[in-house]
Amino acid sequence: MPNPSELRALADEAASVVVIAHIAPDGDTIGSALGLAWALRQLGKRARVACADPSPRELAFLPGVGDISAEPPEDEDLIIVVDASDVERIGSLYDAQVFATRPVVNIDHHITNQRYGTLNLVTQRSSTAELILDQLTDLGVTLDLTIATCLLTGLVTDTRGFTTSNTTPASLEAAVVLTRAGALLPAINDAVFNHRSITLLRLWGAAFVATRLEEEGVLWTELPLTMLAQAGADLADAKGLVNFLSSIDEARISATFRETPEGKVDVSLRSVPGIDVSQVAMRFGGGGHPQAAGCLVPGTLGDVRSRIVQALREAARQDRGPAPGPGVG
Ligand code: 5GP
Ligand code: MN
Repeated sequence: MPNPSELRALADEAASVVVIAHIAPDGDTIGSALGLAWALRQLGKRARVACADPSPRELAFLPGVGDISAEPPEDEDLIIVVDASDVERIGSLYDAQVFATRPVVNIDHHITNQRYGTLNLVTQRSSTAELILDQLTDLGVTLDLTIATCLLTGLVTDTRGFTTSNTTPASLEAAVVLTRAGALLPAINDAVFNHRSITLLRLWGAAFVATRLEEEGVLWTELPLTMLAQAGADLADAKGLVNFLSSIDEARISATFRETPEGKVDVSLRSVPGIDVSQVAMRFGGGGHPQAAGCLVPGTLGDVRSRIVQALREAARQDRGPAPGPGVG
């Protein structure tokens, strides 16, 4: 028999596992966490998913999402954190002392990952879900419809429906495997992309009016607390706005700055290939991918926004040149 992988060895030794998704969760962290928890249950483990923040409402269709709680690790033998590049992303569920008392597996696809686990499965893939799919065979898990639905949701959300530059042949192969297992690609796409609230429309309308385009091609807008209140919007309504801005032809970088009630600014960044916004996000204590990154920065909206817009304009000036369009080469 071949040597069991390190993950397999840790899973074999554990009777119970807590799988942790990151704060302000998205489809990849929730889909990955649920998919992995279902896989571990198939192996006879007691597994639960924990997340410091509530799941976005468009993920309500995912099997097991209603059982996710904000309970920190308790007596579980093993902690697995998915899609979180650093421990700050674990939020209130992180406790250095608790984490030091048992093995911690860090499964992530962010280039900025800080390798905080006792085992770090960090590989650059489209999504953490794609990475977890790779581990299933090793774990001795048979892919079923439940697991496939969770993992395909992670792939679809992190690649925005297989449209972003992190989509590779391996992502498409993973989608083939998951759809062959029964996951419904059109239904997942519809659930995660085609349902928007009227409060989102009002918020985006106000945010569009406030957009500014810098001469370097930095398109940005800001969302003060008053703007959210006037629109009757919640945090979820602010998500995705930066993606829309990135579709504007003049935008080489797009950015949104959202004021939080805790006196911080939640920053979302997108860029064309050739400009690495994860470097800018890292400088401000965040992380992400070259073309999609973010950070949560203490300070006033005006101050944080002006410092980051400056850094983005600088990054845009250092662009290595236009990205090749489709059909080039
Ligand atoms: P989004 O703009 O969609 O919230 O996030 C884009 C990417 O940046 C995601 O991969 C996300 O994990 C990462 N990201 C967003 N905010 C933060 C942050 O505060 N810290 C870190 N480390 N990564 C972030
Ligand atoms: Mn992800």
